[in-house]
Amino acid sequence: MFGDMMDDALTITSIMKFARQVYSNTEIVSITADNPSHRTTFGAVFDRAGQLANVLANLGCAQGDRIATLAWNDYRHFELYYGISCSGYVCHTVNPRLFPEQIVYIANHAEDQWIFVDPAFVPLLEQVQDQLTSVRGYIVLTDQSNMPETTLTNTMCYETLLADQAVDYAWPELDENSASSLCYTSGTTGNPKGVLYSHRSTVLHCMAANTTAALSPSEVILPVVPMFHVNAWGMVYSAAATGCKLVFPGPKMGDGEALAGLINAEKVSFALGVPTVWLALVNYLAESGGSIDSLTRVLVGGAACPLSLMKAMDSYNADLQVVWGMTEMSPLGTCNTLLPWMHDLPEDEKYEYRLKAGRLIYGVDMRIVDEAGSELAWDGEKSGQLQVRGPWVCKAYYKMEVSDAHLPDGWFDTGDVATIDQYGYMAITDRTKDVIKSGGEWISSIDVENAAMGHPDVAEAAVIGVPHPKWTERPLLIVVKKPQANPDKKALLTFLDGKIAKWWIPEDCVFVEEIPHTATGKVSKKDLRDQFREYSY
Ligand code: ADP
Repeated sequence: MFGDMMDDALTITSIMKFARQVYSNTEIVSITADNPSHRTTFGAVFDRAGQLANVLANLGCAQGDRIATLAWNDYRHFELYYGISCSGYVCHTVNPRLFPEQIVYIANHAEDQWIFVDPAFVPLLEQVQDQLTSVRGYIVLTDQSNMPETTLTNTMCYETLLADQAVDYAWPELDENSASSLCYTSGTTGNPKGVLYSHRSTVLHCMAANTTAALSPSEVILPVVPMFHVNAWGMVYSAAATGCKLVFPGPKMGDGEALAGLINAEKVSFALGVPTVWLALVNYLAESGGSIDSLTRVLVGGAACPLSLMKAMDSYNADLQVVWGMTEMSPLGTCNTLLPWMHDLPEDEKYEYRLKAGRLIYGVDMRIVDEAGSELAWDGEKSGQLQVRGPWVCKAYYKMEVSDAHLPDGWFDTGDVATIDQYGYMAITDRTKDVIKSGGEWISSIDVENAAMGHPDVAEAAVIGVPHPKWTERPLLIVVKKPQANPDKKALLTFLDGKIAKWWIPEDCVFVEEIPHTATGKVSKKDLRDQFREYSY
């Protein structure tokens, strides 16, 4: 017997229509290349999304076409998200920090028809346009007076195109399972892999994100997570569905001063970003003596959060909450909030819990398994391969029938190694491919890195496994010193004593000018391993 409830499709269009009706006057503030403080409203951007849909129809787009964006976080990118997906095309957000050859691979693999590009990324496309096999033309995200000189063929100006169009557009009734957007993982091994989201998965993830982040219209959100990487962690949709004012940093993502300026000027209360971004903010605040009084909550994820960062944010009364997820998961999987009794724990123990990746959000299921595939207990001790499933987890990569990560029993192997404690708090200890196995036992490189990051002279730390005659592999600590600091190697290693298991302490530490990062701002262990290929204990 079926229930008697209405079967309305879960589409991004429904979020747009809702926000247009209920939160039409809610503000969107952006920094763009052509305007350092642009102000608009949900009502106005959704009108422009209608104009954009008319532009796309005139360009001859067909349902399901992939339309690419190469852009920073701002209101125009927001319009593209809705204008493209709600008219039945697929919004393919491309990460401009990828290597040019990866961009070529991605655009050709996705068969992108048009690319909407920020003026800043026009030179990048000029370099590779001859290799793009499906692109019919480029639309530059600016007005006529700011159009750059370019060798790109068939180039148009976004504002000029929009200006000629009507606001009204007959938004199609879409099947909720139709594809809405596409994002490629940065692919630390092999080619990047595409994750094709549907309207349904996006709406379900949006509802889960709204409750996970406890969003309400009194909130002002600053997404410092790029819109070119997993939909700015869903905030593009959540802000509209909950009526939160949005503040977009444009090209100023990693700029501590600009972020502090935006937070204070716009009274930002809630922000999201990777640890590197918040490090830039606290470093700026420490140097300038500034404050961020309106900011009460910050979600941090994408990489492990160092204790020193959490303490620094605490000193500004901004509650740092760790979240975990990945492109394949839309991205949210877990979020860290303390249970009532944990608030009474001694500070150190409280930090231990707060630094974990947190507990599952409703809608996602997870398990940890050993190398033989047997499920491990949630005891906080045993670490194993972390696997997930749920309606916003991808069931296959775009145009790839087989992948090692998609298991025959329907689970997805995240490539992370984790423990889960008796209260359900998951902690990432490593990536499967970065795991250090010393004498047959796993060492958590993340824990060693975090302990080293706690040293006042350390700006950044990374740990990789290097060959060892007796233990097969031992950890090597690689450190970037803080400016003007000159820590002693031995003292640094002794500093780790008592903070991690004794046998996890590396035998050696090397100082480098810079640690290589991936396009999503994470430490590139692959490049580090290449760099230290000759090193051996
Ligand atoms: P990429 O394209 O770099 O793979 P993703 O955002 O999809 O980008 O990366 C997801 C990965 O980032 C996770 O599988 C995990 O390894 C890491 N990650 C995400 N959140 C956390 C966290 N809170 N702590 C540690 N690692 C994290």
